[in-house]
Amino acid sequence: MFEYDDLLVNDHKQVQRLKIADTLSKLFAERASQNDEEGRFPFENFKELKEEGFVKLTVPKKYGGGDLSLYDFLLIQEKIAEGDGATALSLGWHNGIVMNIRDSNKWDEQKFAQICYEIVNEGKLINSCATEPTSGSPARGGKPLTSARKDGNVWIINGHKTFTSLAPALDYFIVTATIEETGEVGEFLIPKEADGLRIEKTWNTLGMRATRSDDLLLTKVKVQGDALLSIRMQQKPEPQGWLLHIPACYLGIAKAARNYAVQFAKKYQPQSLPHPISEVPEVRRKVAEMDIDMMKARHFMYHVAYLWDHFPGKRKKMGEELAAVKYVVTNSAINIVDMAMRIVGGQSLMKEHPLERYYRDVRAGLHNPPADDLTFMKLGQKAFS
Ligand SMILES: Cc1cc2nc3c(=O)[nH]c(=O)nc-3n(C[C@H](O)[C@H](O)[C@H](O)COP(=O)(O)OP(=O)(O)OC[C@H]3O[C@@H](n4cnc5c(N)ncnc54)[C@H](O)[C@@H]3O)c2cc1C
Repeated sequence: MFEYDDLLVNDHKQVQRLKIADTLSKLFAERASQNDEEGRFPFENFKELKEEGFVKLTVPKKYGGGDLSLYDFLLIQEKIAEGDGATALSLGWHNGIVMNIRDSNKWDEQKFAQICYEIVNEGKLINSCATEPTSGSPARGGKPLTSARKDGNVWIINGHKTFTSLAPALDYFIVTATIEETGEVGEFLIPKEADGLRIEKTWNTLGMRATRSDDLLLTKVKVQGDALLSIRMQQKPEPQGWLLHIPACYLGIAKAARNYAVQFAKKYQPQSLPHPISEVPEVRRKVAEMDIDMMKARHFMYHVAYLWDHFPGKRKKMGEELAAVKYVVTNSAINIVDMAMRIVGGQSLMKEHPLERYYRDVRAGLHNPPADDLTFMKLGQKAFS
């Protein structure tokens, strides 16, 4: 338990939901090490998340979902990530994408209603596949080499996507492709059963191994005309609050590391000391540093989420704040895990302690969007515009 949790939660429903999330998170923590080691997707975790209604949290109420605000969504993300970062990041993509479609109205309403029905009643999972081997981060605006060609009322899609999180568990893939006839970039909805769709098990990474963010290969995949969901706008993209699921996840990992180090310090008493290391001033200073980083990151993130939820009219102006939250929280999380490992010492490197996994997982945050350099560019531009 992080002592400052209470400050962020005040209504009964939030507390109830967080209690369920806490129970799930503890179960996931028990499985995290093995899934990480084997690079295995946490199918059991997702079975339980579905049973508890956690894959419909952001579906609109009118379609049977929880209609969560951004703030409440982040509380859940942070809590699940305390147990297993890979599960939280995977869940965050699914719930975040649904939240984004809900709030941006960018899909045809009938299509969205149908997908919501399948999520609510069948526990279906969805994610966006935008990254390609040579495209780099889609946040930089490069055009996909994946192509879509219209043939009568059918789209024919060919391409190669990388970093497809939840690959073996997805029911729907939202694929970005350049439309051959117009040069525009479209988003296409492709069901997992589509002929020509194949997952290649390429995901063998340092961290976030259980997200199974494998490659997606599309060879002459045929989908109906209405599979085209939206066209990417030429102008500056709208700020996207849902992406804060990413920093929330890394903050949860940092919180787990901080709590582990504090518990360790209470018990560990080397021969050279008449008391546990928790009484060593330098250890206390390090804990204080971690807690200041935690407070800074959490209050900033939840405050921006609060503004997003309560002042929808100001969302268009919040791009810089959202990017700054990602930067501050992700980098603070990395510092906190580092500090936790310094407190624990050499044992933090050992596989039987979770810290070395936190250390590997938290690094992945640097490579989720937006990258730090894009945030600096954004803020620099704003300052001189
Ligand atoms: C755990 C994890 C899960 C992910 N899940 C998904 C997912 O589900 N779906 C998905 O689509 N993607 C996913 N991604 C991919 C992610 O969004 C990025 O696309 C991916 O990490 C590549 O980003 P990058 O910054 O390395 O790429 P790049 O943009 O190629 O950056 C690499 C380097 O090149 C430099 N660079 C490249 N282009 C430019 C430029 N134009 N100007 C200046 N500098 C440049 C960068 O500064 C950086 O130093 C995931 C990534 C991770 C780590």
